[in-house]
Amino acid sequence: MSLQPMPCELGALASHLTSRGVDLVRVLWSDLHGIARGKEVHVTELARLAGAGLSFCQALMVTGLAGNPADLPESSGRGWPDAHARIAPDTLALPGYAPGTAFLLADLLDPSDGNAPLHLDPRGILRRQVERLAAAGLHAVAAPELEFYLLAPDPAAAGGWRPYSTHETAGYVVGAAYDPDLLLSHLIRECHALGLGIRGGNQEFSGGQFEINHTHGPALGAADRAFLFKYAIKEIAAGRGLRATFMGKPFSEAAGSGQHVHLSLVDSEGVNLLADPTDDDGISPLARSFLAGVLHHAPALTAVLNPTVNAYTRLVSPDSLVPTAADWGHDNRTAYVRIPPERGSGTRIEVRGADAAANTHLVVAALLAAGLDGIERDLMAPPPVSSSSARPSAPLPTTLRDALSALEADRTLSEALGSRFTQVFIALKREELARFERTVTDWEFREYARML
Ligand code: GLU
Ligand code: MG
Repeated sequence: MSLQPMPCELGALASHLTSRGVDLVRVLWSDLHGIARGKEVHVTELARLAGAGLSFCQALMVTGLAGNPADLPESSGRGWPDAHARIAPDTLALPGYAPGTAFLLADLLDPSDGNAPLHLDPRGILRRQVERLAAAGLHAVAAPELEFYLLAPDPAAAGGWRPYSTHETAGYVVGAAYDPDLLLSHLIRECHALGLGIRGGNQEFSGGQFEINHTHGPALGAADRAFLFKYAIKEIAAGRGLRATFMGKPFSEAAGSGQHVHLSLVDSEGVNLLADPTDDDGISPLARSFLAGVLHHAPALTAVLNPTVNAYTRLVSPDSLVPTAADWGHDNRTAYVRIPPERGSGTRIEVRGADAAANTHLVVAALLAAGLDGIERDLMAPPPVSSSSARPSAPLPTTLRDALSALEADRTLSEALGSRFTQVFIALKREELARFERTVTDWEFREYARML
C-alpha cells in the first residue's frame, strides 16, 4: 500500500510513524466474510508486537454475520483457542480522514501449530495460490472493480435506509446533478490519499450506486487494497451518517453490485503471458487453459464469489450484464468471463461473476487455484459466446445451497484452498442459510397474508 519503502522492522517503523505524527495503529485482518477485524494499539506497542504479533480469539474467524460463532473445533470445540495476528510492515496505509492513525494488515498464525499460517486466514490462502503459480514461473496480476451503494437513513424505507441519491441514472455519470454532495470526488480523494491505487470512478446504473476501479498489481497487494478500500468506504460513509453497502443486490428493482476481477499472468520480467500476437484472437494457449480452469470450476467458485443468500437475486439475467452460465466471450459483458479487447501488456481475463460482497482475498485465491488447475491439466475452453448465442448447458448454481454443495463436491478446489478451510467455510455458510430458511421474509407476508 505504501508508496515509499518502509522500515520492515517494527521498532524502526514505530519511529518512522511517530516522526509523521502517528500515535495509533489499527492492526487489521480479514475474516471469512471479508469484514475487517482488528485491534487499535498505541504506536509504542509496535516493537512489542514483533514476532508472533497480537493474539485474539480464533472463534472470530468462524463467526457468522449475526455475531454467532459456529460450533466448531476452531471455537467452542477446543475451548475457544487463540490465533495470532502478525503485522505485515509492507502494508502500511495512512488515512487522510483519520489523522494520527495508521493502518497495517496482519497475517494470521496458529499458536497450537508452532505459529504456522492459520488455515482460516484469507490472506494466507491467497498467498499460497500466488506461490503455487510462482513455482510454475507465473506471476498473478489482479485488479478488481467494485460497485457499491451509498445509503441515507430513512425511517420510511424498508430496512431504514434508501439510496443516497434517488436519481435514475444511465450509468457513467459524474457530478453534482446526480451526486449532490459530490461524495464520489471525496471518496476518490480519500482512497488516493490512502495509497489504494485508484484509477477512477463513476455513478453506476442506479441512483446511489457507484463504482471505483483499482489499478492492477500483484494479486496479493491488489486484494489487500480492495479489502482496505471496502473498510475505508464504509468508514467514510459512516462518518457522514451514511451507510456504504457492498451487498450484491440491496434493492429488487435496482442494479446489483458486482466485483469484476481482472486477472493476468506475467513472467518474472513482467511480460504478459496471456498475450500471443501470432494467435487469431491474440491470446495464448496458457490464457485458454487458465480460462478453461475458471469455467470448469465455476459451479464451486460460485460459493466463494457469491457467498450470501442475497447474491442469487443478482445472478438472474444476462441482460443486466450479470452472468448466469459458465461461459466466456470476447468483449461480451453478458458472459461469466469477458476477454477485454486490449492486447499486448493489457491482455487479461475479466471474471464478472463475483458480487461486491464477496471476500476479495478468497475470490482471487479461488480464481487463481481454478485457473492453475486448468493450466496443469491443459483444459480446453468451450467456444466463446456472443450475446446472441444460445447459452451453453452449464448454468451456474442458482442458490447458495447448491453452490455450497458444488464446492463440497469439488475436491481439487477444496484441497487447493485447504480442505479444513473449505469445510469451515461451508459450515459457516450453511448456518447462515439455515437461519434464513427459518425466517419469514417481507415478500412472503406481502404475497400471502392478505389473500390466503
Ligand atoms: N452491476 C452489474 C453487476 O452486477 C455490472 C454492470 C457493469 O458492467 O458495470 O455485475
Ligand atoms: Mg460497473
